[in-house]
Amino acid sequence: MNQILPLFIFLLLCSTLSAQEPSQPEPAPCGTRGVDPWLVRYTARAQDYAVPRSDDTLYVGIQIHLLAKDNGSGRFSYDKLLSAFCRLNTDYAPSGIRFYFKNPWNEINQTTWWDHNDIPQGIQMMQVNDVLAAQNSYFVSDPAGNCGYNIPYASVAINHNCANENDHTWAHEIGHALSLPHPFIGWEGKVYNFSTQTPDTLTYDYTYFHDTLETQIPAPLDTALVEYVDGSNCTLAADLFCDTKPDYLSQRWFCDGQNNSTKKQKDPDGVEFYSDGTLYMSYSSDECQNRFTPEQIAAMRANLLSEKIDWLTTGPPQADVNGLSTPVDPVNDAPTPNTEVSLHWTPVPNATHYLVTGSRVVSFAARDIEIITDDTMAVTGALFPNKKYYWRVRAFNDWSTCAAVSETATFKTAAVSAVSEADVSGLRIYPTLAAPGTPLWLETSGKHPGGPVVCQVFDASGRRLWHQELNFSGTRTQLNLPSATWQAGVYQVVVTSAQGAHTQRLALMK
Ligand SMILES: [Zn+2]
Repeated sequence: MNQILPLFIFLLLCSTLSAQEPSQPEPAPCGTRGVDPWLVRYTARAQDYAVPRSDDTLYVGIQIHLLAKDNGSGRFSYDKLLSAFCRLNTDYAPSGIRFYFKNPWNEINQTTWWDHNDIPQGIQMMQVNDVLAAQNSYFVSDPAGNCGYNIPYASVAINHNCANENDHTWAHEIGHALSLPHPFIGWEGKVYNFSTQTPDTLTYDYTYFHDTLETQIPAPLDTALVEYVDGSNCTLAADLFCDTKPDYLSQRWFCDGQNNSTKKQKDPDGVEFYSDGTLYMSYSSDECQNRFTPEQIAAMRANLLSEKIDWLTTGPPQADVNGLSTPVDPVNDAPTPNTEVSLHWTPVPNATHYLVTGSRVVSFAARDIEIITDDTMAVTGALFPNKKYYWRVRAFNDWSTCAAVSETATFKTAAVSAVSEADVSGLRIYPTLAAPGTPLWLETSGKHPGGPVVCQVFDASGRRLWHQELNFSGTRTQLNLPSATWQAGVYQVVVTSAQGAHTQRLALMK
């Protein structure tokens, strides 16, 4: 840290508007303060970097880092990450750049990174955790008061609240990571004023905003040329692109029906214009944004093919996951034990993973179950007794996260007194307290391999009232006792298999 603090770091900070927690202040707008020196060289001789525009998709590996507090709470939900990743790839599709999860997601529990007050703390987080040969993206609760930022020699930090499924912050930050400046560069931290003469040049402080960690020039000021409407200085001014028009708006702004700013500006010649809100790299609100320009796309591709070749892989990608999974069991409020509930669903073509999410609220706002598995079943941990749970499944693979979420299924956990624990036989039966006529469930927590079992019920005098032989599937089987006509009282249920006998008390209550 002591080494990092005094350094000047080329840093691209950004922000987008999005739904915020009511109690939290809105993240500050982007704080970009520089132009990547690579981009200056590139725009001066773009032909040297010319990349044929064909259908040659560039495949970029991303390492995901999900931060939580020290106690593991507050992490970005997997569901939201999959939606955000789908949005990122959708936003980049016209550019022929496609992202994939290069490695398993990295989960980090450190409160001071999860909510970091200043950029050097974020840089430290990245230096400790960045992996080589990938773009690294960190999802945190608060990246130093911003919606996000990019450290050019390191990685990107994204605010949880700015990574909703229709937000473009991630696309914007990766645009910075691939050398794109803001179209309004030089105006950051300044408020444009129509009633005063627009200057030809702007000076700005880019302390912390140099391009390498080693750069230690104590010169915090740089100069940007202000772009003219007639395009006469577009190769040298602002973001150095000619197909991004002048834009002097460095606070969040809303667009009109044509995606232009409602705020009128005038260039140094007095020519009036409105800003283009369609650009991901502008500060228009998310609903205005829908594109990178051809010059921006060419620069990003050239940047990947020259500076960031180690982020690329030759593919081929895994096939898209388009199908919908269907919850199979338990569904329709089926009774379950309150721990180690086995959830089963149908497979989906091309899916290598499934995300299972469960909640006590139908909105899934709070997550009680969040499991990723490569199987079509998962076993929960401990749940609250006597509660209704909603659960659903989402199929994906490392390249494809846009498949729809399944319909929502439900189950109800048993009261605490109504569940037996699985014993050495690996079997359990529930409920243990029930009304006459209630079916029982025979289940294993995964320790029982299945096979032939004999189920018997005895009354208090030892008389056998019922028995059934069945081939246990190894998951869940319903036992339909003819108990509707039985007296209230205490019974013994005995299930015998090759693994031993499981005996359990069953109380019938009228
Ligand atoms: Zn930005």
